[in-house]
Amino acid sequence: MSDIHDQAPRRITILGATGSIGCNTLDVMAHLGGRGAFEVPAITGMGNIDLLARQARTAGAGFAVTADPDRYQDLKQALSGSGIEVGAGPSALVEAGERETDLVMAGIVGIAGLAPTLAAVSRGADIALANKECLVSAGDLFATAMTKGGGRLLPVDSEHNAIFQVLEQAQRHAVERIILTASGGPFRDYSREQMAAVTPEVAAAHPNWSMGLKISIDSASMFNKALEMIEARHLFGMEPEQIEVIIHPQSIVHSMVGYCDGSVLAQLGAPDMRHAIGYAISHPRRAPLPVERLDFAKLAKLEFHAPDETRFPALALARTAMQRGGLQGAVLNGAKETALEAFIAGKIGFLQMADIVAATMDQLDDGRRASTIEDVYAADREARTIAKAMMERPA
Ligand code: NAD
Ligand code: MG
Repeated sequence: MSDIHDQAPRRITILGATGSIGCNTLDVMAHLGGRGAFEVPAITGMGNIDLLARQARTAGAGFAVTADPDRYQDLKQALSGSGIEVGAGPSALVEAGERETDLVMAGIVGIAGLAPTLAAVSRGADIALANKECLVSAGDLFATAMTKGGGRLLPVDSEHNAIFQVLEQAQRHAVERIILTASGGPFRDYSREQMAAVTPEVAAAHPNWSMGLKISIDSASMFNKALEMIEARHLFGMEPEQIEVIIHPQSIVHSMVGYCDGSVLAQLGAPDMRHAIGYAISHPRRAPLPVERLDFAKLAKLEFHAPDETRFPALALARTAMQRGGLQGAVLNGAKETALEAFIAGKIGFLQMADIVAATMDQLDDGRRASTIEDVYAADREARTIAKAMMERPA
């Protein structure tokens, strides 16, 4: 019945296996036949050595890497006797991306994932992309590298995965707009005064999706949607004014594509990342996935309303970054990661994150473009330095 079993084992490398995307990926793979259906040439994590070692043993991975160079011995010990090769640090991470494979799940969070993911792109592997920061920071270079490498780019972000599913390839010229849905996060109905006082713990409690810490807080500030607007621009070649955001608290409609004849196609499903992950790793087939089926008779209502950009300034910042172009995406992301870390550490308030990103973008609005990946890292470093200095200055 399932044609997945008629194939040779599919080789899937997992970058960021110990995170939310990584764990869900391994869960989907287990449901789709586990070691009989998949081989795992390489797997990476960072500080959670016990989990990484357990995952590597269960999957029978060829190569296990911790991004933390100081944890090499710990990982080596945890995998002793398994025959699994062990590596640590940035160069081992890139080597994991370069290992011969069919598909790479790019599940690292932040710009830290750019180098290993690009290594995989250059090797010609298909890329299941969750690590949106790659496109936000280095969209043009990433697209060029994809074309050169020859692999397929399969979006895992649920909104982009939805658009990918309903975008008629032969009718791309007829696409008028794409509509990204957003749950609105836990502060959808908060006033600015209330938002000013929230803690990282409250901000991390997403109403619908279970995700990693950083993306959960980014969802609360709508910086996640801001990154997704830029991600959509690069993935689908849209102009900034063709990308709309609509608040949809139920997270059932995962996103939509509007065509020139007025028709709107949407993809719907339960809010469970295992759908987008399973779709991406099974593409172009559809595999039977262990996600809840929608019962339309029980869905009370689906609501939609416009986002309030005074409470969520991140959306306007994404538009500014797209209009300015060049390295502004890298700057937005670098400043955002720095401000987010400061918010998590209790050093700044929730609303200050957007102020810091806006000011950093303005300071680095010098029309520079990226010719190489080094230019992207330089812009990222500069944005972090400026954002940090801003936070250290007394208000
Ligand atoms: P997470 O924090 O749960 O996991 C991140 C993974 O990256 C972990 O394996 C961690 O060890 C690794 N990592 C962290 N810092 C690293 C570094 N400096 N160097 C190398 N590895 C590092 O994050 P997540 O929620 O799984 O998100 C991963 C990516 O997927 C992000 O880009 C996120 O925006 C995107 N995404 C996630 C979800 C979701 O449901 N979690 C949905 C859509 C998109
Ligand atoms: Mg998303």
